Amino acid sequence: MSALFPTYKRKQIQLQQGNGPYVFDQNNKKYLDFTSGIAVTSLGHCHPEVVAALQKQSECIWHTSNLFQIQKQELLAETLVKNTNMDLAFFCNSGAEANEAAIKLAKKFTKKNKIITFNDSFHGRTFGSMSATGQQKIKDGFGPLVSTFLHLPWNDISQLEKHTDGETAAIMMEVIQGEGGIKIADFNFYKKVQEICKKYDILLIIDEVQTGIGRTGKRYAYEHFGLDPDIVTLAKGLGNGFPIGAMLGKRKLAEAFGPGSHGTTFGGNPLACAISQSVLNIIFQDEFLKEVERKGKNFKEQLEDHLLSYPSVNEIRGEGLLIGIECDHAGEIIVNLENEGLLTVPAGERVIRLLPPLNVKDEELTSALNKILAVFHNIHETVS
Ligand SMILES: *Cc1c(COP(=O)(O)O)cnc(C)c1O
Repeated sequence: MSALFPTYKRKQIQLQQGNGPYVFDQNNKKYLDFTSGIAVTSLGHCHPEVVAALQKQSECIWHTSNLFQIQKQELLAETLVKNTNMDLAFFCNSGAEANEAAIKLAKKFTKKNKIITFNDSFHGRTFGSMSATGQQKIKDGFGPLVSTFLHLPWNDISQLEKHTDGETAAIMMEVIQGEGGIKIADFNFYKKVQEICKKYDILLIIDEVQTGIGRTGKRYAYEHFGLDPDIVTLAKGLGNGFPIGAMLGKRKLAEAFGPGSHGTTFGGNPLACAISQSVLNIIFQDEFLKEVERKGKNFKEQLEDHLLSYPSVNEIRGEGLLIGIECDHAGEIIVNLENEGLLTVPAGERVIRLLPPLNVKDEELTSALNKILAVFHNIHETVS
């Protein structure tokens, strides 16, 4: 019997070693890891530069409280806001915490209580971020929830227009819904969101916990849609597996987050910041990001070319190296892929999510493609 709370339905696989895009289980079976710890280990496992940054900082100083100057935190903040319309950063330890900070800041700054979020969204498991989340199964049994949130259908301009007004503090959204099934709205929807935010002076909060830090081929996914957010939240890919989250925001918001207003013990400590800096030094290079875009586009096109002819495959969606295959039998296919040595993650009801490391090589993508084609071929034979 396990001494763990049974909050997860775990596979029998135990990954004991990682090297770049590969992981090895307890039987030394080798897998291509296209889960990346759910969009976390974007540079693959045990990347030498990240390992070196961790080792170096671990021998210097790990933790000081935020009562002191932390130069590594200042540097990381500068790196994150450079090349964006953001000015300031607040560091924490997870995506949910970054969203909590955003929700608190939006309420305090605007002095309003209504925040619009969307059906099928995922924002985290704390009370605020869970209440913001647009999936009932995440919230069952935990009510009463935080009353701040109004959930609207995703990609529905008329509902958005109907429910936004001068009493709205913020609109909070993932630009591409990750857990919800790699759902991208129409370009006009994003345009309308931006318009409405400007019209009523509503804060635009973008949850980039899954889509940020190069995952979609840009530093932040909002750049694809010409958006101008006031607040951006980050975590997952920010530390390549070392826990760190961040909230970025515009300078005007600083007045609402003065000394004593919000805080965290661990957030932004020197060890986390040194590691994250080494991650951004690699990912935030234009050449690196262009490669993510190129590889993602090729991979998606190849998947489309080979899979869309199956009647059970509905759509291939995504941007950069965040790709979803919407199809029948998604759960069964994921298990078969595992047997073939390719790890993937489900999303939504019937989507296979592919999250390769961002520095994946073309031949590794080809190898994954071949495994996917073999499994789809077999499934199709047995079903028909
Ligand atoms: C994973 C995720 C979160 C929650 O992050 P945690 O680090 O698990 O708290 C929030 N928002 C989005 C979009 C996510 O994908």
